[in-house]
Amino acid sequence: MPSLRQPVADMLAWQMDCRVAWLCVLEKEYFAALNVLDEAYGTTTELGIGNGLQDRNTYFLGRIGKHKVVINLPSGTVKGQLEAHSIATQIRSTFPSISIVLLVGLGSGAPRVNAGNDVRLGDVVISSEVLMYKSGKHTDQTFQTTAAPIESPRHLLAAATGLEFKFMGKDSLQDLVDAAAASIACRQPAYARPKLDQLFKSSFIHDDDKCVCREKLPDASPELVQRKIREPGNLVQMHKGVVGSADQVLKNATERDRLAENSNILCFEMEAGAVMHATKGFTESITIRGVSDYSDGHKNDEWHNYAALTAAVCAKALLNHVQPPSISQLGRPLGDDTLNRSCRAPGSSGREEPRVVGARRRERRGQGVARRAELAVHLRQRRQRRAGPKAQPPSGGQLPGLDATQSRNAQAAIGEESTLHIYANNPVPASLNYPHDLVGGDQDSIGMFQQRPEWYPDIAADMSASDSTHQFLPP
Ligand SMILES: [Zn+2]
Repeated sequence: MPSLRQPVADMLAWQMDCRVAWLCVLEKEYFAALNVLDEAYGTTTELGIGNGLQDRNTYFLGRIGKHKVVINLPSGTVKGQLEAHSIATQIRSTFPSISIVLLVGLGSGAPRVNAGNDVRLGDVVISSEVLMYKSGKHTDQTFQTTAAPIESPRHLLAAATGLEFKFMGKDSLQDLVDAAAASIACRQPAYARPKLDQLFKSSFIHDDDKCVCREKLPDASPELVQRKIREPGNLVQMHKGVVGSADQVLKNATERDRLAENSNILCFEMEAGAVMHATKGFTESITIRGVSDYSDGHKNDEWHNYAALTAAVCAKALLNHVQPPSISQLGRPLGDDTLNRSCRAPGSSGREEPRVVGARRRERRGQGVARRAELAVHLRQRRQRRAGPKAQPPSGGQLPGLDATQSRNAQAAIGEESTLHIYANNPVPASLNYPHDLVGGDQDSIGMFQQRPEWYPDIAADMSASDSTHQFLPP
């Protein structure tokens, strides 16, 4: 892992501007991710970054190329699918600008050598689609998957295509993996490439007591599927295709082959479906899996670390082919199109909409400036409080227009009620028409101070950081 360094002086700005979430569920996946960061900053706990109201996770902050990246720390105790779903759901309450979610880790390969799908241990599969293959119906004859595949974002797939061409040239994926493995070899030799990669015919069933699958068999053994020999410098390859996702481990070669043939699945795993559903409509997500076994009874953990590393290296390479999303592309709950629609009165011609939208955009920009200023003051105050009572200035510091007591109360209210986010709320439909960070669910409370319209009926003011502050000031 790169040595720790402070990211920037304005940690709050970093937090608000971070666009990439890197999700993993196993510790070995997490360690692999840390090892490919260009800069490593530390955890949210170490850096004193508070979580959003709905977020109970801890994250590691770092940089890859032009991207600010947060990686979740896996708990190691919760079932992976539930953990990935909850993190994908909660992360934007702490990092509101997240717009790309990478799910990076291990997967089980589904090779069909005769059909040209020569997926091998240590290879990486990038999801063009995710198929919840256990969502379907049982008939008298068989089980039929009826779920529609969920497509990955086009611009991320385009980046993956660019990556494929790059790997065909001078720089192979294996070169990158070798460099990453070498950089951590002295600390973590377990991430070296294992030697044994044998694909058994589906008719050769594993036997716990006497199976030979951990031994090196002759290349021409009848138990083995015959494959072409890969060039020494091109052992690790990237594939783009369908990833099958279900809340269960697949260790059955016959079922693997059936699903692979029916749905063209290249790789199986357990979290992608949950993440795609959790992020739908808010952020763009894609799954990157290092193949650690062949989904059959012979599967073991020997390739886990190396496959976690190949997935992490490939995810980094993909990110380096993706431009950081611009502000207009951010997956905020209230995008420009949504704003436009929501500003249109039913039945209106829309002739005056540009002025209304323009005014709201100006308000949003103005509110952003005011809010940034207020939050910067708040952050300084929080750091000072954490530094201890002696370090706190006698005045306690003040928010603009407030005395020391009012400032202290306002800061406490902000931190307690909204952790610095502006909430809309579905029971107050008008609140959804204003720029917001999150949609809350606390009765009908809205805004940064969680005002209730019964007592604070000016919705526009409730949804503005500056105007909300003045609601609590004496006239
Ligand atoms: Zn076996």
